[in-house]
Amino acid sequence: VGNSLNASSVTGTIATADQYVGRFAPSPTGPLHFGSLVAAVASYLQARAHDGRWLVRIEDIDPPREQPGASDLILEALERYGFEWDGDVIYQSRNHAAHEAALQRLLEDGLAYPCGCSRRDLANAPRGPLGIIYPGTCRDGCVARETAIRLRTTDDPVAFVDGLQGAITQRLESESGDFVIRRRDGLIAYQLAVVVDDELQGITEVVRGIDIIDSTPRQIWLQRLLGFRTPGYLHIPVVTHPDGDKLSKLTGAPAIPLEDVRPVLIAALVALQQDPPTTLAQNTLDDIWGWARENWNLEPLQGLTAVRVDQIAGFGLTVTPQLQ
Ligand code: GLU
Repeated sequence: VGNSLNASSVTGTIATADQYVGRFAPSPTGPLHFGSLVAAVASYLQARAHDGRWLVRIEDIDPPREQPGASDLILEALERYGFEWDGDVIYQSRNHAAHEAALQRLLEDGLAYPCGCSRRDLANAPRGPLGIIYPGTCRDGCVARETAIRLRTTDDPVAFVDGLQGAITQRLESESGDFVIRRRDGLIAYQLAVVVDDELQGITEVVRGIDIIDSTPRQIWLQRLLGFRTPGYLHIPVVTHPDGDKLSKLTGAPAIPLEDVRPVLIAALVALQQDPPTTLAQNTLDDIWGWARENWNLEPLQGLTAVRVDQIAGFGLTVTPQLQ
């Protein structure tokens, strides 16, 4: 008994070479709302279904967008809902040295360059679905004092097969142009930080909302230039208000309740197209997770891009916008 206990506690804390490692990576811009709960549940169940590890990483590298206390509220909500993460919570801001080292490498290798273009300079730049398509103004040098750093791109297709959404391809040079990896205000851009941290933490599969799928080719491009592995990707549908707008802080999505969490967790399973028995809400939180783990099924999520919150009926959930 002693031995087997030992063995299981070791595998619970140390990743082996081929072990599944997943993560939930919220930005502390506000408390968890129902849409982020759904993303957390999906990544958690996918990791547990693979006997993998599940990490929580607070993406706190954009102070202007952060809300004081949000990290603690997010972690408290995860605890109340019965999530059990492996190891300590990771704070992305503590990986600053690794982000800077990656940036320096890209600069030294000539793969990235300073860009002094202001928003005004780019006012007439072409726009596409990914935003401004950077026209390459500073590719061959720039004299500005305050600069962003951009990553060079080419038009070779960057393709991947999403586990739920199928094949995705972008030609970065024409769809986004060279993109920012360090902002003019000195902050490391999300695209670079997420790639460095996923590599550092040995993430084998990323499960997250489809609202970020358009960033994935840029992240894969960064992984290639930095010599990192590309994890698998599953982009789950976003949860929207009845009018089709994504639930978010901006659209007034309320925080998920911290009391009486079971119906809300079940509603998250329904949003993920799982088919919990109606009696499940009478069970304990542990039982609900047990059912969810045993019955986790990606099939009904294939190709699904959005779930309207008003279509998740019958579990006492109300998610009404509360614009402040
Ligand atoms: N921090 C990002 C967010 O909260 C998610 C990043 C990711 O999962 O790659 O939207």
